[in-house]
Amino acid sequence: QAKKHGKDKFEMFEPGMRVAFQATIDMESDLRRAVVRHEFELRYQPIVRLNSGEITGVEALIRWMHPERGVVPPVEFIPLAEETGLIVPIGEWVLREATQQVAAWNTRRSGRPLTVSVNISAVQLEHSVLPEIVQSALDASGLRADRLTLELTESLLVDHRPETLQRLHDIKALGVRLAIDDFGTGYSSLAYLRQFPVDIIKIDKSFVDDVVDEPTAAALTHGIIQLGRALSLSTIAEGIEHAGQLTSLAGGNCELGQGYYFAEPLTRSDFDDLLFPIDVPGECD
Ligand code: C2E
Ligand code: MG
Ligand code: MG
Ligand code: MG
Repeated sequence: QAKKHGKDKFEMFEPGMRVAFQATIDMESDLRRAVVRHEFELRYQPIVRLNSGEITGVEALIRWMHPERGVVPPVEFIPLAEETGLIVPIGEWVLREATQQVAAWNTRRSGRPLTVSVNISAVQLEHSVLPEIVQSALDASGLRADRLTLELTESLLVDHRPETLQRLHDIKALGVRLAIDDFGTGYSSLAYLRQFPVDIIKIDKSFVDDVVDEPTAAALTHGIIQLGRALSLSTIAEGIEHAGQLTSLAGGNCELGQGYYFAEPLTRSDFDDLLFPIDVPGECD
């Protein structure tokens, strides 16, 4: 009876659905293998002071170097990594790799030390060990705590469990900074600013996209910047692609920005060339 029922249920699947289901299973085992074989790399996108052009920090962005599919962007595997819990080991790797790399750059650099921003997903925050993992990454790299920023999305804050708020305070107590990513896209952005111990607002690209051509987008963007200022928060504009956007944002006193206008996310080696342009290979090693 049950078997028959099961069979009937199976018959309800369209052939296309079965293919999609199989593809998900294949991808999951692929992703498990990727964790074991370290198939991930980070890209580093400069964060720039808008009124001077100085690079003040980097955002670390993960890529999956798939043996057959090539470079897989995060939108194509982070959701599955979150569903399967694989984001926990992957996210720990990102934290360790990013802090180590930026600490190494800071050691070589004569300018002001860079900060590094790492994206954290809700699933990572649900694990009680996150504060220990963050502390361990700081200890191992030697990076000063206030040079690490954890970026949280608004959706993470919307669905938060009661423990989440305490966890965020525990992480803050380590001395790291917290940023709200994609600010303005959630449905009660302002409430989070009261509830969560945030240091930085990242203005979502969708506002920046229209800041030149759309008076409403411009008013909202400049309003967010002023709000940040009133609350003593830093503001970072995401996705600056044109000089006109830079002019509008800098004119509105937005402190920091990132986007293809300055640089796309770069490989470690390309970021190296950006930071140390006159290095002769071999001479310093
Ligand atoms: P995000 O944190 O909002 O990162 C910004 C995204 O915008 C990045 O996409 C970046 O490459 C892209 N971007 C930057 N400047 C421009 C621009 O001028 N124009 C356009 N069109 N795009 C720009 P990416 O690297 O594909 O990452 C997408 C999202 O994946 C990130 O959004 C973040 O939510 C997530 N993500 C990336 N790395 C990690 C990670 O290590 N862990 C977790 N949990 N999530 C990650
Ligand atoms: Mg981010
Ligand atoms: Mg963002
Ligand atoms: Mg975004």
